[in-house]
Amino acid sequence: GHIAELVTRLVRDVPDWPTPGVVFKDISPLLADAAAFAAVVTDVARRAREAGATLVAGIEARGFVLAAPAAVAAGAGFLPVRKAGKLPGRTLRRDYALEYGTASVELQPEVVRPGQRVLLVDDVLATGGTAQAACELLTEAGAQLVGLHVLLELSFLGGRGRLGVVPVTTSAVA
Ligand code: 5GP
Repeated sequence: GHIAELVTRLVRDVPDWPTPGVVFKDISPLLADAAAFAAVVTDVARRAREAGATLVAGIEARGFVLAAPAAVAAGAGFLPVRKAGKLPGRTLRRDYALEYGTASVELQPEVVRPGQRVLLVDDVLATGGTAQAACELLTEAGAQLVGLHVLLELSFLGGRGRLGVVPVTTSAVA
């Protein structure tokens, strides 16, 4: 559709970044296009409303850029899922494996009401490790996870297979 066409046209391939052999999908040109950014945010907001989400969670940092304006447009709250060590107070943490080394994400469980319907949003689904860790944190915090929405799924990396029963929706697939 229209959104998929915008994503395909405005997300830029950056070869050999951050390491040789990786082709990084750069969403900055899409964010810089006023009409495209608005269309993408409006689409995420519609999905949040239709799923009955009262909280839209975004994964640091590009997930924030999509989730926060979509939350406002949907009349929902926003919840940051952050890299470890950034959030004050009590946090829940998940460590997960990267190709080389590990990464960690955290959230503040007190900010989630028990059973609250949450839509998780990120820019790119690659191997799925980040989204899987974020889903586990939300569930552990007592959220009812209504789905994961990503702007772009790199389907050849098979990340969707790590997300179990969580409904995964995408604006575009590469
Ligand atoms: P995964 O954990 O699925 O391998 O990687 C997904 C996470 O890393 C997301 O938070 C996403 O922002 C980032 N990421 C991985 N590859 C890319 C990419 O090619 N482009 C962008 N924009 N983000 C990526």
